[in-house]
Amino acid sequence: MKTDFVPITYFAVPLQKQLLENQENIRGKPYEDFFDPNLKIPDSAIQQVTRGPMDRRYVKTPSKSDISAFVKGEDVIQGSGYAMVDEALFYVQSRMLMPGITSEMMRWWFVWHQLEKERYTLWFPQAHIDNKVADPERLADTSLTFEERLYGNTNVAKEFIGPIAQEIAIHFDSPAALGADREILEQNGYYFSTSAWMSLTAAPETCMGLMFHLGRDTSKGFEFITQYWMGSHDELHRFPGGADAAAFLRSVGFETEALENLAFELSIHDLSEYYNLARILPKLYEKFAGN
Ligand code: ZN
Repeated sequence: MKTDFVPITYFAVPLQKQLLENQENIRGKPYEDFFDPNLKIPDSAIQQVTRGPMDRRYVKTPSKSDISAFVKGEDVIQGSGYAMVDEALFYVQSRMLMPGITSEMMRWWFVWHQLEKERYTLWFPQAHIDNKVADPERLADTSLTFEERLYGNTNVAKEFIGPIAQEIAIHFDSPAALGADREILEQNGYYFSTSAWMSLTAAPETCMGLMFHLGRDTSKGFEFITQYWMGSHDELHRFPGGADAAAFLRSVGFETEALENLAFELSIHDLSEYYNLARILPKLYEKFAGN
């Protein structure tokens, strides 16, 4: 079945200005032709995330059993959605098919884009601001496996999620260490992962979020499944500083309403950047992967 893509036509003023700045910064880079602000996402996804929070029956917690259920496709909606898990934690999910993409291309992208901030802006020209990795030499070291280069090598991403800029520390780790069942991942063919626990740079040692990005190669393309949680929750206490998240979020006034708004904005952000990446990656890879 053919997917109907529709253009994203609303960007808050700070994103419009960021686009102009990013456009200026990318001028002269060998990959500037790939900087294209005409983002499109499937009409079906827009319908799903703009008609309110998803059905409660399908909302997952960050527990190991819920993560396994999502990987197995049990009690899940296809596509995208967002909702509060409870008043202190939100959930966002997406399930995408990317024809023409392979896990090899995605691994390449997750190294390449982190090494120069202008590359990061290709991914979401209106929303991405800056990107730094703790140990760029390790990330670039081709004698190591992808996992050795990425895991434990924290990425700090500054980006607009909705109209507000966030600075997020993304602590990549193996999906098993984050709570996914290794056997279930393998049984279902999910060998690609860029999953992480997350903190804000304002409280870098306080886990406030968890993200699973898992992928598998299929005959129809790359299947990419994503879950995000942000806020505070007992199940996040298994990560560094997780038990301190509730007090920190209260102290900065980041509570239910702000979290729910962020959930919706993250849902749109995720769709925007991953469908855009799926559009530009095959040619980008062809041109720059060997260089
Ligand atoms: Zn982003």
